[in-house]
Amino acid sequence: MSLSERRRPEGQDVVKKMADLLRAGAAMLSERCPICGLPLFRLKSGEVVCPVHGRVYIVKTESEATRITVQGVLENLERVAAEEIAKALEKRDQGLDGLVKWLDVLERTERILSIMQGSGKTREGEKD
Ligand SMILES: [Zn+2]
Repeated sequence: MSLSERRRPEGQDVVKKMADLLRAGAAMLSERCPICGLPLFRLKSGEVVCPVHGRVYIVKTESEATRITVQGVLENLERVAAEEIAKALEKRDQGLDGLVKWLDVLERTERILSIMQGSGKTREGEKD
């Protein structure tokens, strides 16, 4: 219990900051800071801030958070696949099995990523 308390700044200080934000016309949101769990505030400028951490990246829904995680994993996988393909090309004596496997991984990864990044997107450079 004391562990999580230690990470938090002085309670009084936070309350004061929240009061300052409200006084400045900021609106308290139902979303919470992913780091400290305090309610976030939307400033008049439109920025969403945590009273403790300042400006934060706000993830709107849980599914969006999952999406971002999945996308990150896939992008890593894509990189690994590309590296493995490059390695396989260097050591040609290993045969094509490994190469084909990684190409398969790369193809699937890129397909999923392109679906996630919006299938309705028009490709640039394709006009003419
Ligand atoms: Zn915070």
